[in-house]
Formats: sequence, structure tokens, C-alpha cells
Amino acid sequence: MTEQVTRATFDEVMVPNYAPSDIIPVRGEGSRVWDKNGKEYIDFAGGIAVTALGHSHPTLVKAMRDQADQLWHLSNVMTNEPALRLAKKLTEKTFAERVFFANSGGEANEAAFKLARRYAYDHVGPEKHEIISFYKSFHGRTLFTVTVGGQPKYTEGFEPAPGGIKHCDYNDIEQLKGLISDKTCAVVMEPIQGEGGVIPANLEFAKQVRELCDAHNALLVFDEVQSGVGRTGTFFAYEQLGVTPDILTSAKALGNGFPVGAMLTTEKIASSLAFGTHGSTYGGNPMACVIAEAVIDIIGTDEVLSGVKKRHELYVEGLKAINDKYNVFKDIRGMGLLIGAELVDELAGHGKDFFAESANQGLLILVAGPNVIRLAPSLIIPEEDIKAGLERFENTIKVVLETLSTK
Ligand SMILES: *Cc1c(COP(=O)(O)O)cnc(C)c1O
Repeated sequence: MTEQVTRATFDEVMVPNYAPSDIIPVRGEGSRVWDKNGKEYIDFAGGIAVTALGHSHPTLVKAMRDQADQLWHLSNVMTNEPALRLAKKLTEKTFAERVFFANSGGEANEAAFKLARRYAYDHVGPEKHEIISFYKSFHGRTLFTVTVGGQPKYTEGFEPAPGGIKHCDYNDIEQLKGLISDKTCAVVMEPIQGEGGVIPANLEFAKQVRELCDAHNALLVFDEVQSGVGRTGTFFAYEQLGVTPDILTSAKALGNGFPVGAMLTTEKIASSLAFGTHGSTYGGNPMACVIAEAVIDIIGTDEVLSGVKKRHELYVEGLKAINDKYNVFKDIRGMGLLIGAELVDELAGHGKDFFAESANQGLLILVAGPNVIRLAPSLIIPEEDIKAGLERFENTIKVVLETLSTK
């Protein structure tokens, strides 16, 4: 018999590192999700920029089912056809010539940072080991990746942290000039900061970061775990920055919810992860790879990518119209379908109220920090779902403003 579980069960059996909301979704289709009570939600969150083709996409379900009948897992003692096909496709679509598979964004970044150190070690020496990243950045939750990440709250109490890591203000080239040196092995950045508040890199800044890296013989690592695989309207966001990184990491949308991550690089740099230097039990698992292959076959089309740009306009227009009525946002920004709406100063800190009320209204949204509402819906969300969801968002705003004014 299936055990009966409720939200209360969470507090009885789970480590309290999350504080999930009361709803327990049980089914999803496209950009709609239903909970145990049959209540329907429009999904503007996409599982935090993950379900880029929505829920239960028939092509992905079929790819997974077919592979499930064939082969689940071997090990990296042998290779497998889905992994090789996926790697080929990723190299065809990007600057990269070599691919390493992992199971998450954090693991892809862990591999990227280890590779950057190892490459510098091989070509210069152990003193060239410093990594520079940016405040507010997010790169994962392993000890190395939280330390590279620019949010001190995530490393507090977990020290001693790995050394040789420095942080710089994002979009501040003068500060970076003061930090970078010949001891720098890598500069790590998100082309658009996701968790940090949906903050895009300035084009001129990105270009100058590339030049500084070249001048100091440091690798440029782009963390595209959130921005990649069509999210910003190009297959990877770097294409829009006009800057090519040396190492790029991907995850989230790559598996549409099936755990998979990838680190992409050039042949020359890849050679520093020589036989035996790094690995993963599940990385390159055929189930994950067959799904990721189907994902990129669909997302990599002009139809889907141009659809992202069109939907971006619909969202921005809709949010501006709401803002004209309620004056809640001081900035509406983002790229493609990674959209941030920053609350006006009078509402600072109230992001979580909008988040909580949106669920009551039948809408799933995200926040990025205390002041920014973040939307990261499916890249193929139907226009009528955008419209209906924005109506629910407007109702959310109405209720939150009413509640706050009566307090
Ligand atoms: C989500 C995210 C990660 C971490 O990915 P996990 O799969 O949770 O390990 C890393 N970098 C960025 C930019 C992310 O948005």
C-alpha cells in the first residue's frame, strides 16, 4: 500500500534545509500543474529555469521510455551511444570541442573550476591558482562552488573554505583590473546573474573581461547553468554577448528536469583533465543523455529560439501594463525568458509575499533575492497561458497591496 503523506510529513522526515510551500503538485502538462486537491496552477517558474519545454513533453517522455526499455546505466568504464551523440551535438552547437558530463550545475562547475586550476598547473605552475568571481553570483552548493559563488551567507559556518578565491563587483571593470594578475587561473561569471537578481552583464564589460583574461593568460569560465539552452533566446547567452568563453557549464534546462550537467571546453584545455584526474559515476548516463539530446533537438531550432524573443516581448509588455496601474516595479529587465521585476523601494523585502500569494491565485513564480520577482517559464509556453498567468499575477499584486495597506 502507498503511504499517505502530506506537507506535515516534510517536517517529520526531511532535513529542514528547505521550507517548501503548502502545495504538493502531483501532475503537470505543458505550462500547467495540478496539486493533490485538483487545483490548477500556471507555471511561470519552470522548476527554477529547468522545465524549458514544460511538463510531460511527449517527445521527451517517449525518448525516456524508449531508453528505459534499452539500457539504464553502465559506467564510465564503457561509453554509450546517447552520451556520444549528445556530446557531438553540443560541440556542433557551440565553440566547444570537448564535453564532460555531470549530474547537476554544481558538479559541472566543480569540474570547470578544477579544470581551470589543473590547466594553469600544467602550463604555468601551482602559483597560478587564483579564481575571481563576482558578488551575487551563484555557482552551486558544493564547498568549492559556494566559495566561488558571491553570496557569503552560503559559506557561513562551513569553513575552512577552499582558498585562492576573490570576488569582484559585477559589471565593474576597474575593480576587476585591480584584482586580476598573473596568479589568476580563471575568471568565472554568469552572462546574466540569475539567483543574484536577474542582472545582465554589460556588453562592454563582458568584452573587457575577455581582454583582461587574455592579457593575464587566465581562462574565462561562463556559468550558463541558468542562462543556457535557449533561455535567453540564443542557444547559449554568450552568443549575444559577442564573447566566447574557454569553458562553459550547462545544466538545468539541458535535462528539462532529468538530472544532467555538462562542462564544455576546447580540445587544448580539455587535455588537462587527463585520464584518471576527474570523474563521476552517473555523468554521461544514457537515460540523462537521451533526454538531453531530445531537449536540444527541439530547443536548438529557429522556431523555438525566435519564439523565446517573441514571448519576452509579451511578458515585458504585460508587466509594464500591470506596473502602469499599480506602480510596484522600479525595473523590469532580463533576457529572453529569464525576466526580473524589481520591486519599488517601498515594497523592498516583500518579494516573498508576492510569491506566497501567487500560489493562492493559481500561479507559480520565483523570486531572486528579497526584492526581485523572477519569471523563468517554459520556452514554449502558449500565449494564452502567458495572458492568463499575467491576469493571475495582477490579482496577486492587488491582494498583496491590499493586505499590506491594512497592516
Ligand atoms: C542553479 C544554478 C547552479 C547550480 O545548479 P545545481 O544543479 O543546483 O547544482 C549553478 N549555477 C547557476 C548559474 C545556477 O543558476
